[in-house]
Amino acid sequence: MIDRPSGTVLPGLIDTHVHLVGGGEPDALALDSGRSGAEREQVIRRSLRQHLERGVTTVRDRGDTQWAVLNRRARDGEPTAVGSGPPITSPGGHCAAMGGEASGAAALRALVAERHERGAQVVKMMVSGGAMTVGSALLELQFGPDDVRLVVEEAYRRGLAVTAHAHSVPSVEVCVAAGVDGIEHCTCLTARGIHTPPSLTDALAARRIQVCPTFGRLPGLPPSPQAIEVMRRTGMTLQARFEQVGALFAAGVPILAGSDAGIRPAKPHGVLAHSVAELVRSGLPVAAALAAATPAAADVCGLGSSCGRLRPGRAADLLVVEGDLAEDVAALTRPRLVVLRGRVIPLSDDAPPARS
Ligand SMILES: [Zn+2]
Repeated sequence: MIDRPSGTVLPGLIDTHVHLVGGGEPDALALDSGRSGAEREQVIRRSLRQHLERGVTTVRDRGDTQWAVLNRRARDGEPTAVGSGPPITSPGGHCAAMGGEASGAAALRALVAERHERGAQVVKMMVSGGAMTVGSALLELQFGPDDVRLVVEEAYRRGLAVTAHAHSVPSVEVCVAAGVDGIEHCTCLTARGIHTPPSLTDALAARRIQVCPTFGRLPGLPPSPQAIEVMRRTGMTLQARFEQVGALFAAGVPILAGSDAGIRPAKPHGVLAHSVAELVRSGLPVAAALAAATPAAADVCGLGSSCGRLRPGRAADLLVVEGDLAEDVAALTRPRLVVLRGRVIPLSDDAPPARS
C-alpha cells in the first residue's frame, strides 16, 4: 500500500524516439560507431536505467547500430523497449554508420524484409539529411518519391508501420505523398527558416500522420553546435519551432512526445518530461501533451493494450509526481515514485528518493 495524498499518479511515460546506443556525449552517435559490442551493451543498459529513473517505463528506439538493441535479451527491471533497428538511409547518408544503407529497389526491399525478420516494430527511413552526420545535407532529399513509396508498400505488406526522418519541406511532402505513418522532426525547414505550407499542414491532419517534433532538452544547456549552425544559416529560431508545432496541433495533426534522447548532453536519456513541457510551451493543453507521452505513444509503439493507460489488466507501470500537473507541468521532471511492472524502482541520488 502506497499513500501519496498530495501526489499525482499517471501511467509510466513512453518515449517514442530514443537512441539507446547514444550515451549523451557530444557527438554521441559518432562515438557509438567506434565501440565494441560489449561496450555498446553497457551504454544501452545505462541508457535504459536513466529512462527508468525519470519515470520513462517504455521506449521506442529509432536508430540502432548493428541490431544491438533488437538482438539483445532484455534484463529484468528494464523499461520495455521496441525499435526500428538501423534506419534505412542512402549510401553515406544520415546515420549510415548504423548499418542501414541502401540504394535501388532491390536493396530497399531486402532491408524491409530484414527488419521484419528481426522483429522490428516499425521501419525508420531517413528521407532528408540530418544535422548530426558530417557531410549530410539537412535540406536535401536522400530518397525520391518512388523509393519512399516502395518502402511503405513493402512494410505494409509485412504488417510494419513506417516513420520517416524529414526536416525540409520537400522531404515532408514526399513522406506525406508516400503514405508514411509518422514523421520525425517534421521541421519544414527551408533556406530561410521554418515555413510550413498550409496545404501540407492540412494533408498531415487529414491523413492522421503522427508527428514527433523530437522536443526535450535540459534547460540551461545550449543547442548542439550543429543546430546553432543550422539556425545561423537559415534564420530558424526555437520560438518559430514552438509556434509551428502549436499550429500543427491546432490544425488537428497528431503530435507525439519523443525526445531523441542520447544524442548529446542536452538530451540525456530520461529527458522526456522536458519534451512534454515544451509541447505545453508550444500551445498544447497539458492533458494533450501528457497524452502524447502516454496513450498516444503506447498506441504507436503497438503497446496500446499493455501500457500507456491506467486501467485494470494493464502493466502496472506508474509514475507519481508531487502536486498538480495542470498547474505546474514541470513537476513531471521531478518523479517521486516509479513503478515498473508492479515493482517500486529505487531512485538514485540525482532523482528525488522514493519514500513509501
Ligand atoms: Zn533520432
